[in-house]
Amino acid sequence: MTTPIQATLIPGDGIGPEIVDATLAALDALGAPFEWDRQIAGLGGVQVAGDPLPPATLDSIRRTRLALKGPLETPSGGGYRSSNVRLREEFQLYANLRPARTIIPGGRFDNIDLVVVRENLEGLYIGHEHYVKIDNDPHAVAMATGINTRAGGLRLLEYAFEHAVTTGRKKVTIVHKANIMKALTGIFLETGLDLYERKYKGKFELDTVIIDACAMKLVINPWQFDMLVTTNLFGDILSDLVAGLVGGLGMAPGANIGADAAIFEAVHGSAPDIAGKGIANPIALLLAAGMMLDHCKLPEMATKLRTAIDETLNIDKVRTGDLGGTAGTAEFTKALVGRIKC
Ligand code: NAD
Repeated sequence: MTTPIQATLIPGDGIGPEIVDATLAALDALGAPFEWDRQIAGLGGVQVAGDPLPPATLDSIRRTRLALKGPLETPSGGGYRSSNVRLREEFQLYANLRPARTIIPGGRFDNIDLVVVRENLEGLYIGHEHYVKIDNDPHAVAMATGINTRAGGLRLLEYAFEHAVTTGRKKVTIVHKANIMKALTGIFLETGLDLYERKYKGKFELDTVIIDACAMKLVINPWQFDMLVTTNLFGDILSDLVAGLVGGLGMAPGANIGADAAIFEAVHGSAPDIAGKGIANPIALLLAAGMMLDHCKLPEMATKLRTAIDETLNIDKVRTGDLGGTAGTAEFTKALVGRIKC
């Protein structure tokens, strides 16, 4: 019998509870050994506890060090900071892992199998921003400070290179803008080149590319890339770009990894426009659960889950509306569970 694994479950807002139910049904069918501690956050947290990230939720993750999270809405007004950003900071989740793999063939781009590893805590997203008043205009000048540290870059690059080795990636590409932002992104590039020379030479091919060229190359010939590793802002943009190559955010899972905690999520938001209608596509969260199984060293279950998703979509042709099908969330989940059990 597999040892139980304690994990925090945050159903989240909007379609969150619907896609979480679908994911739990699939994990149950797999016999995944998670023991869930259900917690609230986002809009649900504000409504029940007056805080988008209540202390009980933080305590739970401090205890389990592992969470599966539905999308969270940050209420506008009220001065609330994004719960997602707070979670990253609180648990020092420095690496954001965003795989993109073609599941439904015949789209604009076939046979995509890429992963973006994004630095999640530094760069231009640290939030040091302010305005300068000139004459009567209080917002005459807007300023932002970016901070990248050698230590922060190194831990992310080490994570990415190690992940490349353990998952058999052949090529890693460091994406930067060191021709213009010589210090801010140059330090990341230099750190990566140095780390490769010292510890990883020969284990995979290392390449470097400037962010703007990378965006163009990804659209013209994405197959030339295998793993992209980059700083926070560039990674944010590129990871959505690669999600677009494989059918959009409905198919995009993400993992936020720290030294001693990891949070798995769908990349899309709470989709308030379709919440409660029973039509949400749960695949992004299901794929995130697959990453969580891999993280917990349960790769056979992860592979079984991914295979069942492929078969449900491509053999049974059961697909939700956003993928051109007619199935609701429940019908898709039933077909998926059937595939897992057969
Ligand atoms: P969104 O991703 O929620 O929705 C964009 C569009 O995609 C909508 O038309 C929606 O119906 C559709 N969509 C998204 N996920 C889908 C799914 N699984 N199945 C079918 N269709 C799906 O983006 P938004 O509308 O900009 O954001 C809504 C809320 O979500 C905001 O409050 C935002 O802050 C939050 N958000 C949270 C996260 C997160 O928690 N990781 C990420 C992004 C946005």
